[in-house]
Amino acid sequence: MAGRLSGRLAVVTGASRGIGYQIAKGLAAEGAHVIAVARTVGGLEELDDEIKSAGGSTTLVPLDLTDMGGIDRLGGAIADRWGKLDVFVANAGLLGVLAPIGHIEAKTFEKTVTVNITATWRLIRSLDPLLRKSDAGRAIVMSSGAAHSAKAFWALYAATKAADEALVRSWANETMNSALRVNSVNPGATRTAMRAQAMPGEDPKTLPTAREVAARIVPLAFPDVTETGKLFDVRQNRFLDYRDPA
Ligand code: NAP
Repeated sequence: MAGRLSGRLAVVTGASRGIGYQIAKGLAAEGAHVIAVARTVGGLEELDDEIKSAGGSTTLVPLDLTDMGGIDRLGGAIADRWGKLDVFVANAGLLGVLAPIGHIEAKTFEKTVTVNITATWRLIRSLDPLLRKSDAGRAIVMSSGAAHSAKAFWALYAATKAADEALVRSWANETMNSALRVNSVNPGATRTAMRAQAMPGEDPKTLPTAREVAARIVPLAFPDVTETGKLFDVRQNRFLDYRDPA
């Protein structure tokens, strides 16, 4: 398909629903071949149907991101088949639980850390060499306003998102002199299953749809992006600078 990402290859995690589903559709509409990762096969197949009927193409990867060996095999399979990767969107995530720190169950804490941080690191480790082989590698890691707001009961989720931002900033400094550009994104409150879990009393119709939010995130994958190591704020539709350490 013709578009800004024509002939390019993209990995999107958490592509079975919500923001990741719409980012995957948006990247495919710009011509990328999308490798769509998630556990829910039904959601991935729906995405595949939508993308194919619009003339695009996908490879579906049903994978639980707690399976670290599976992440390594994904990187190996991309290396064998394509030899490089142009776009990586680390979007999959869990809310875990909203609770006082002392009430968080160890099982919930560990699973949320595993999916939100460890899998992101493992994906970066697996995909970084392939992204560096692209002439315009682009990585987008989904963060949240929670990483900065320190709200009561949000500690688990907030800590994982703050960790993801730290990974991105260091990764950007490590890749500054390559063609790879890596940035975090704060999508803002978005009408998805995760937001409904966090805010069950909220009227979802008051929130932007995942499609509207994804439309602002997809251009961060374009070859003309120059920013790296920054946080893109979807509401403000601009990159924010991190303050230099004191
Ligand atoms: P969502 O609708 O709950 O979707 C989450 C996605 O992550 C699903 O596709 C899910 O797929 C995948 N996922 C979860 N656990 C997984 C696992 N173990 N292995 C593989 N995939 C897994 O969430 P969303 O609202 O679209 O959120 C997308 C991203 O935006 C997240 O990183 C979230 O933290 C961030 N964010 C969202 C909001 C918001 O208001 N919605 C605000 C700020 C930040 P399966 O269940 O099929 O595996």
